[in-house]
Amino acid sequence: MEYRKYQKNDIVTVTIEDIGNDGEGIGKVDGYTLFVKDAVIGDTVEARITKCKKNYGYARMEKVLSPSSFRVEPKCRFHRQCGGCQLQAMSYERQLVYKQDKVRNNLLRIGGFSIEQIDAVIEPIVGMDEPWHYRNKAQYPVGYDKKGNLITGFYAGRTHDIISNTDCVLGAPENKDILEAILYYMQENHVTAYRENEGTGLVRHVLIRTGFQSGEIMVCLVLNGKKLPEEERLIEKLTGLEAKWKDRKEAAEGEVRGDTDVYRRVVSISVSINTEKTNVIMGKEIRLLWGKDRIQDTLGGITFAISPLSFYQVNPVQTEKLYGLALDHAGLTGKETVWDLYCGIGTISLYMARKAKQVYGVEIIPEAIEDAKENARTNRIDNVQFFVGKAEEVLPAFYEGGTDGKAAGALDEQMRHPDVIVVDPPRKGCDERCLETMLAMKPGRIVYVSCDSATLARDLKVLCAGGYELKRVRAVDQFGHSGHVETVCQLVRKDGMRRKINYREEEILDCGCIYG
Ligand code: SAH
Repeated sequence: MEYRKYQKNDIVTVTIEDIGNDGEGIGKVDGYTLFVKDAVIGDTVEARITKCKKNYGYARMEKVLSPSSFRVEPKCRFHRQCGGCQLQAMSYERQLVYKQDKVRNNLLRIGGFSIEQIDAVIEPIVGMDEPWHYRNKAQYPVGYDKKGNLITGFYAGRTHDIISNTDCVLGAPENKDILEAILYYMQENHVTAYRENEGTGLVRHVLIRTGFQSGEIMVCLVLNGKKLPEEERLIEKLTGLEAKWKDRKEAAEGEVRGDTDVYRRVVSISVSINTEKTNVIMGKEIRLLWGKDRIQDTLGGITFAISPLSFYQVNPVQTEKLYGLALDHAGLTGKETVWDLYCGIGTISLYMARKAKQVYGVEIIPEAIEDAKENARTNRIDNVQFFVGKAEEVLPAFYEGGTDGKAAGALDEQMRHPDVIVVDPPRKGCDERCLETMLAMKPGRIVYVSCDSATLARDLKVLCAGGYELKRVRAVDQFGHSGHVETVCQLVRKDGMRRKINYREEEILDCGCIYG
């Protein structure tokens, strides 16, 4: 089909009929498909074309001509510039419908499941009760505005231009106070911000993590260098010890703050050294300046220690719901052996361990495994063992009998044929070798927790072709106002009721534990 020729900067009127992968609106002009940033499904907008391809193009919304019934007033005035909230102009209820549809469509198009199959297993998405200020972690770039003023905030979408904004509606409200203290310290002590293009300047990013249950706050400054000048001045400001700074702040706010004294909650201040020219935010070396090297938080009654480098789910309220579902899907009775692949600091492993006989966790980052071990000790959970390495290497090493002494020594039928395997991989999904080994291990159940439903669907296809049936699928909204969605799935082995265990030549009558 020949389309009318459009060009960059053409202004068109378009009605938005669908939503794209990143939350952008999709509509057609004379049959030509346009992806329109910031337009909401149901809107008719005036849009400026930004890029033309043969069969489709990209455009930016200029003006809403007729608003969608799903359009709402966004809370943040920077939402169009900032790369964080693609869906803020859409009602939260409609966002949830969009996410549910996204999972369904990926299962259909990429996973190859039929509509009937999907309808039989998919449950309604678990939304958030309060979709604001839900994030417990934020990383703010530090730099200069066009006039050369020191600023911190967020990168404008797909660029490295910093928008000055210390008051993000997704982050913890107290981040603002912390960022102000840091900027004040930097100005007072002539500390420079990093200039990415030149690779000069010192402070690159500020990482702030908050334990929502414990109230503890961790601050880590990422440096293009080893040391901050006058480090003690920073500590005094961040911990509220410097009277002058507090007086000034309280005077500026016209009132004395009560228990909102954020600075008393700061329990950990560190620097991360990152002198590389890279987009990776954190440097590997962390030096503690003051307080504890980790903060604590509690999920489902289990206490976790979190260090600056370890992965920890960013939305603790929804994470409890997500892990609750994962536990439910695992169907544990206390007799089972479980592998938890991509285990991070052992959150899911410890959840499972309370209901299983034995859990084995695998994670690529050594520091996270150190945290996981400490978390197990602190919570007095001793039926869990953790291994550092790639899931696609550690799992086959145990299954095949191990190439190194460690694996061979620990070789155990229990490990080779677990009852349940849980996976929670990063966006790229599971490695093929990992999936193959999972199939060879023949667990009765697989619980797949995913943050990208496209790779999830791809992997489910492999697992279902390898003898598993998809029984349950449920999306959980962990990231309100962004296009991302988390999903948890249960797969059950088709011959799970009569599993043949080679080494004992024994048939069992349920897919529970064979050793109990
Ligand atoms: N289950 C954890 C972490 C999930 S995030 C939780 O809920 O908190 C995914 C984790 O996989 C990260 O900790 C990441 O470091 C780890 N990872 C990434 N690639 C990996 C691989 N090939 N093998 C094992 N772990 C990996």
